[in-house]
Amino acid sequence: MDTKTPAVSSPEHTSSPDFVRTIVAQDVQAGKNQGRVHTRFPPEPNGYLHIGHAKSISLNFGVAQEFGGLCNLRFDDTNPTKEDVEYVEAIQEDIRWLGFDWQDRLFYASDYFGRLYEFAEELILQGKAYVCDLSPEDMRAYRGTLTEPGRNSPNRERPVEENLDLFRRMKAGEFAEGSRTLRARIDMQSPNISLRDPVIYRILKTPHHRTGTAWCIYPMYDFAHCLSDALEGITHSICTLEFENNHALYDWFLDNLKVPGHPLQIEFARMNLNYVVMSKRKLRQLVEEGYVAGWDDPRMPTLAGLRRRGYTPASIREFCERIGVAKAISIVDISLLEFCVRDDLNKHALRVMGILRPLKVVIDNYPEGTVEEMDAINNPEDPSAGTRRVPFSRVIYIERDDFREDPPPKYFRLAPGREVRLRYAYFIKCVGVVKDPVTGEVVELHCTYDPSTRGGDAPDGRKVKATLHWVSAAHAVDAQVNLYDRLFGVQDPGNEPEGHSFIEYLNPNSLEILSGCKLEPSVLNAPALTHYQFERQGYFCVDAESRPDKLIFNRTAALRDTWARIEEGSKA
Ligand code: ATP
Ligand code: MG
Repeated sequence: MDTKTPAVSSPEHTSSPDFVRTIVAQDVQAGKNQGRVHTRFPPEPNGYLHIGHAKSISLNFGVAQEFGGLCNLRFDDTNPTKEDVEYVEAIQEDIRWLGFDWQDRLFYASDYFGRLYEFAEELILQGKAYVCDLSPEDMRAYRGTLTEPGRNSPNRERPVEENLDLFRRMKAGEFAEGSRTLRARIDMQSPNISLRDPVIYRILKTPHHRTGTAWCIYPMYDFAHCLSDALEGITHSICTLEFENNHALYDWFLDNLKVPGHPLQIEFARMNLNYVVMSKRKLRQLVEEGYVAGWDDPRMPTLAGLRRRGYTPASIREFCERIGVAKAISIVDISLLEFCVRDDLNKHALRVMGILRPLKVVIDNYPEGTVEEMDAINNPEDPSAGTRRVPFSRVIYIERDDFREDPPPKYFRLAPGREVRLRYAYFIKCVGVVKDPVTGEVVELHCTYDPSTRGGDAPDGRKVKATLHWVSAAHAVDAQVNLYDRLFGVQDPGNEPEGHSFIEYLNPNSLEILSGCKLEPSVLNAPALTHYQFERQGYFCVDAESRPDKLIFNRTAALRDTWARIEEGSKA
């Protein structure tokens, strides 16, 4: 048991520890649980983890780390009808990717089915649980409402022996699904509806992904969760606010059964993020009905989606730290998440030049067949990233957007007769424009270069107002680039009014696929998920399905930073 002095650390961006850490620190100081801190992250394997889960993961694993304690990973697999091993594996991969480690403490609520069953019999023997024959509809009617007390089940006074016999026969599969339940015998008049004789076991004749057909009765979440916590020696059971009403029930089970300890349930507000849906049911619908390419579609707020989009674990951890932990429900602006990834990638992503919408430029006075290697800086924020050589030749591509035949005022980039700098190369001047005779579209530019400006400065001191990125046509590699935008066009897609579906709020332009992009050759063999900044364009990463003969890049974020502007604006 680890009892060393805890290091109480507060997150970088808040001045004092949040209320969860304050409670934990007080408990440690008071010597509760012999000073131990043991938390757990309890996902239900019925979907992929999303950014909201990241907050819970950072909190649970973070608190354990900071107090020299432990954090378990426990699958809350009590509902075999919705669960799948695919999710069990994906969840583990995502937590590891985020940077957290449960070491050898991977558990499943289903590991405890045998013990939970014994606990249920113990309640029956104490006269604190009974088998109820009410149908689900009747049970609902008997439960009462917030303003009306409930009514006792006709089976509430069943003798212990009969309850025991019926419960054993439920377990043996003698009764049909939905025909009977085991209920805790608490108080049908309680103002807290969760205490009105809640169901603790139900009949489900569905095989379980781990226990197979061994069980046809399954414990309810409220019963299984607190007991699993207690069996694992959890000291602080951190959960989201919707469990506040279940707190008394959590304590009731632990107080009425012989358990090795009594964890403290602490509730915090779940993270809400605008422009996304986070309900697993809705995320599953997006996947199953084909609105996205899968759980890891780069537009999804899942960790798998964010990873494929190019988000880094550090940026997600930073985001979770910045939003903090509170009791009050709030909605976080997604631009903060975007800010965090830009901030991290700015420090770490290699710079390259890539042309998304190419326009061919022939440098008329540059010698044919000559290739020069230009020195380019890999990351101005990180000198240790070094430099690379980028080939330059007579025919290059520039961004279509970097040329205007009739430049509007304040447009300083290339135009007929105008001179600009090519990054790391030369000044060029536009001397001719070739158009498609039919459409009139500009298809090629002719320029001249000034050999004395190699490296990007004119010895005579003349200035240009723009610096363009470019790639050498003969050396460029072709790539597909996926430009992603928000999946939903409205701030709160999950809060649809009666008669509407969140599907209606999908942004029809959330994915733009650009093919025929021209990238500098250094990106050719980069492994999947390598991060880049395409100069002047944004942050991109190599897609999971990219191959050297079919390069695919995903845009993580554009360079434009609305959050920084908002922050600056609020300072001003
Ligand atoms: P569902 O959407 O299926 O009801 P859930 O989002 O609660 O499920 P779980 O797998 O039960 O998903 O969640 C695991 C843990 O993550 C729980 O402790 C839950 O409280 C926490 N969690 C889930 N969503 C959020 C969120 N948006 N913010 C913070 N914590 C969350
Ligand atoms: Mg849940």
